[in-house]
Amino acid sequence: MLNIVIFGPPGSGKGTQSENLIKEYNLAHISTGDLLRKEINTNTELGALAKSYIDKGELVPDEVIINMIDSYLDRMGRVNGVIFDGFPRTVAQAGALRDLLKTYKTKINVCLNLEVPNDELMKRLIERGKTSGRSDDNEETIAKRLATYEKQTKPVLDFYKKEGVAANIKGIGEISAIFDDIKAAVDAKK
Ligand code: ADP
Repeated sequence: MLNIVIFGPPGSGKGTQSENLIKEYNLAHISTGDLLRKEINTNTELGALAKSYIDKGELVPDEVIINMIDSYLDRMGRVNGVIFDGFPRTVAQAGALRDLLKTYKTKINVCLNLEVPNDELMKRLIERGKTSGRSDDNEETIAKRLATYEKQTKPVLDFYKKEGVAANIKGIGEISAIFDDIKAAVDAKK
């Protein structure tokens, strides 16, 4: 299997580049943000809980997220590999993912770290907010999400560095040029 973590702050292009990766390598895609928004839109109990964190720019508790990933993998069936998008977002989630994948006798091959400066992220997310309809794409919540990323999520990168699978990718410029760098990094690790 080819398992990829697409990593980086909010607005760094994880979703966009995931689309490219899916097509190129024929992978399944798990976005915890999308899964949570589906729960919110269908008015489930989990959705209501998630919304209370998302709207403050905070992380949904690890236990909730890990359970969600566990049941998703369980139902998924045979695939060539998986792109994890927006997950893991804490070191505890990264450890849980490693243990889960072990039960499937597989592991993360590469963690792609999309690097984009904060002022550019702010610009992109405010722009996205004009059309995304996302309750968390407003200036105040965006700033909170970026701070949450720095504090709780960035340490995940060290986890993957230690595992020897982290690859830095410059996340500014043409989408296709960024994807060329991504492909080179994936092909080097797979
Ligand atoms: P972005 O990366 O652009 O902020 P996401 O769709 O990945 O957007 O996430 C939106 C929100 O959903 C996050 O700010 C967080 O509250 C919640 N969320 C998504 N994934 C996770 C996760 N793995 N752990 C905890 N919270 C999460």
